Amino acid sequence: MKRVFSGIQPTGIPHLGNYLGAIRNWATLQADHDCVFCLVDMHSLTMPWEPETLRRQTLGSAACLLAAGIEPTRLYNQSAVSAHARLGWIFNCVSRLGWLNRMTQFKDKAGKNRENHSAGLYVYPNLMAADILAFHATRVPVGDDQRQHIELANDIAQKFNHDMGTDFFPTIEAFIPPAAARVMSLRDGTKKMSKSDPSEQSRITLTDTADDIALKIRRAKTDSEPLPSEEAGLEGRAEARNLVAIYAAMANESVEAVLQRFGGEGFGPFKTALADLLVESLAPVAEETRRLLENEDHLLAVLRQGAERARSISEPIVQEAERLVGFLR
Ligand code: ATP
Ligand code: MG
Repeated sequence: MKRVFSGIQPTGIPHLGNYLGAIRNWATLQADHDCVFCLVDMHSLTMPWEPETLRRQTLGSAACLLAAGIEPTRLYNQSAVSAHARLGWIFNCVSRLGWLNRMTQFKDKAGKNRENHSAGLYVYPNLMAADILAFHATRVPVGDDQRQHIELANDIAQKFNHDMGTDFFPTIEAFIPPAAARVMSLRDGTKKMSKSDPSEQSRITLTDTADDIALKIRRAKTDSEPLPSEEAGLEGRAEARNLVAIYAAMANESVEAVLQRFGGEGFGPFKTALADLLVESLAPVAEETRRLLENEDHLLAVLRQGAERARSISEPIVQEAERLVGFLR
């Protein structure tokens, strides 16, 4: 059985992009893969944070993931398992500055003010490589924005293997969904939907109420043309393309089928149908999340148990990596 690893930062409540790009696939993969799912709280320190907010969001994210169908035994938080930090340091010393300089996420998140960002933000992809390889995971379900980081993880694994004269680390395969791998902001069709976007209106979260969802979809940016009947007609219309792609992914239909139904009409009826579809799918997740959040002790116990399992898998792997680099034990 192939091992799957994936993570989500507890930097906010998971949103529709996280759901379609990652979480929904995590839930499906559980049936026939050995899965490890992680709340990557160490990555959450790469941007400015507030300790109490981080605690609250880690619990909130745990509740959302469980509500979305993640099995409790497979979930834990990264900082509770030391393998991540230990292998992460080794990879900091294997990875090359030239490789990190090419990472577009760093450029996007740091913006113009690079000098003022944490060193953690810069070496984040090395820790991400360690997250995956500490479990010898070979399949990583992620959104399209993580493609470059997975390639880097493979470069690191290869260089480690080459330098240490071993074939210890396996090759990782990114598992990127065919539809909605990059859900865009509802306010700007050229920016990806993100937890860190300051505008609440830019994303639909997994705890939004039916009214929130309806309002955000009604206010979502569009253009003034009617919807086209064919996919080619979405060219150059980023916002329209995004909403149609969301509908198609949520309904498990092709973009063509959606356009055949709504093409030629204005956005009004389409937006109503889209909001209904989102409410129908996400309202039960939101309700279960709220229920789970009423019992913090239970959530903490779930994470503790998950961490124990994660430790038992990663500890022998990281100890072997430590032996290979020459550390004494
Ligand atoms: P942040 O803004 O804090 O980086 P994020 O919204 O990018 O948050 P992450 O926790 O970094 O979310 O990513 C978790 C998973 O969700 C990753 O697999 C990532 O590829 C996926 N993902 C994130 N945003 C999107 C999106 N807009 N569309 C599809 N998948 C996404
Ligand atoms: Mg991100």
